[in-house]
Amino acid sequence: MEGVLKQVFAPIVATPGGSETTLGVFSKEEDAWDVLRAFLAKAGETDIVSGNITVWEIDYVGEDGQFILAEFDRNPCPVCEERSFWVEGDNERARCYNLRCGSWIEQNTFDSSRWDCGWPAANWEKRADDYKQAFRRLIEMRAQSTSAGTEHRMPSREAWLNEKDRERRTIQQNKFNSLNEDITE
Ligand SMILES: [Zn+2]
Repeated sequence: MEGVLKQVFAPIVATPGGSETTLGVFSKEEDAWDVLRAFLAKAGETDIVSGNITVWEIDYVGEDGQFILAEFDRNPCPVCEERSFWVEGDNERARCYNLRCGSWIEQNTFDSSRWDCGWPAANWEKRADDYKQAFRRLIEMRAQSTSAGTEHRMPSREAWLNEKDRERRTIQQNKFNSLNEDITE
């Protein structure tokens, strides 16, 4: 026998102007997540910049019968630079929905003082102390992969230092670019 329906779940997306579109209303939380994830995966062609899952209490009298379960913001990806990097809540976790990239950041399930990040396309995973450090690790991963083709067998110490300097500048540039995009959006 079915349990009594007490709540419904609605995935909602919004444009920069705050114009909202409700993607559906579901009795199961998992269905709302599936629909929202499917949308985020294809959001590249839209001007949607934020999303959330809103919960409504059923047969509830009053103003408090609605709350937001999870919120998402769209950002430039530190790895592929596409605007497909969706950050959940207040930097709680993040994932790039670009299928060729898939970079992610997540707090460790068992150890809350530890953060993990990864780039499945390159089969890389790293640890970090917090979200910001995890984000920097992703930028570093990208810089390393970019320079990997030219980094082998540097002939002299000077050349090696030059290479390190260039890597550092690339990382700085990437940081600057992503900050810049944040500001200009
Ligand atoms: Zn990406």
